[in-house]
Amino acid sequence: MTNKQPTARRQSEQLIPSERLIGLVQRVFEAAGSHLDEARIISSHLIEANLVGHDSHGLMRVSRYVDLVREGKVSPNQHAKIINDRGASVLIDGQFGYGQVIGAEAMAIAAERAAQHGFAAVALRNAGHLGRIGAWAEFLARKSLVSLHFVNSSGFGILVAPHGGGDRRLSSNPIAAGVPLGANPPLVLDFATSAVAEGKIQVARNKGEKLQRGEILDGHGMPTTDPEAFYANPPGAILPFAGHKGSGLSILCEILAGSLTGGFASNPASPTAERLVNNMFSIVIDPESFAGRTFFRTDVSLLTEWVRASPPREPGGAVLLPGEIEARTRRERESRGIPVDSTTWATFVAAAASLEVDVER
Ligand code: NAD
Repeated sequence: MTNKQPTARRQSEQLIPSERLIGLVQRVFEAAGSHLDEARIISSHLIEANLVGHDSHGLMRVSRYVDLVREGKVSPNQHAKIINDRGASVLIDGQFGYGQVIGAEAMAIAAERAAQHGFAAVALRNAGHLGRIGAWAEFLARKSLVSLHFVNSSGFGILVAPHGGGDRRLSSNPIAAGVPLGANPPLVLDFATSAVAEGKIQVARNKGEKLQRGEILDGHGMPTTDPEAFYANPPGAILPFAGHKGSGLSILCEILAGSLTGGFASNPASPTAERLVNNMFSIVIDPESFAGRTFFRTDVSLLTEWVRASPPREPGGAVLLPGEIEARTRRERESRGIPVDSTTWATFVAAAASLEVDVER
């Protein structure tokens, strides 16, 4: 999450209940040409990202998605199309539809195949922005399935410098994994392989906050904490997380999600370079296929208890498991509402107004 260092441009915030936001966003996507069901799926996914604390993948995205539809880069009302089906492995084309709908359909196929075969490998290409990738891992974990997801954005999403490089060559390439924990919320690991997700640079810019050191370079390849430098001309680049390790994982995402699916690895000359396309390679496993569900559940519980019992290094601190901070934020925001900064709200209102939707009524 971004550094909360205030600056002179710090914006005011309002708290809005998630159900109200979902309803408002749904109206905007209907006005942008989506059927009711599609509009509901997109709005629920986006506001869910806000609920769990990933504001970079929530309300803030609405105006961008509307622009993408206008530019013909995302097509409303598309469905996942199976291109190659070998039972446990399926290649799906998203036909440049909204990633929220295509992703949900692809993950339903993945769950069905993993139930049939014990595991499944699903290669999804040409989906619109798939949003918060952890949402897909959570969906599968709720069906008692373990999953791994590798994502890239061919072309349009090239924002990240490789380790040792000074300009944009890779996408922010998230990796996610989900582990069912019985009656408890699943363990969900979900992060970009870049030091910071691009949406979080936008959030910091909207809020007038600085980034942390080691997250971005300016347009001359020099380290900076100023989000404006990222959007300047020449543009800056995001650094990979953990140096050569994040850079290597990012290259792996390009290969699995781009080259293996046929959706293309980052390449400014690819046929999808002008679209915001997400490709995703998912491996989905039924624990019953290996040591069995009972052993798996017991052993994971032992592990999580063992890890959690580590003495906190700071007074009042705690060891959190992947997904725990999101579950906490969800509880808090479900009761208090979602904080929306004034820039994000104004941008959303303007996008809605451009489609003759008055969200302030
Ligand atoms: P992040 O840096 O906030 O890391 C989130 C992960 O770290 C989660 O698994 C979380 O549970 C865990 N975590 C956070 N704090 C922790 C703590 N104190 N102890 C233990 N674990 C902790 O995430 P990010 O890299 O900024 O990514 C944000 C979102 O952006 C993700 O949902 C990602 O899928 C999404 N994203 C999507 C795309 C795309 O192309 N669709 C691209 C990049 C990022």
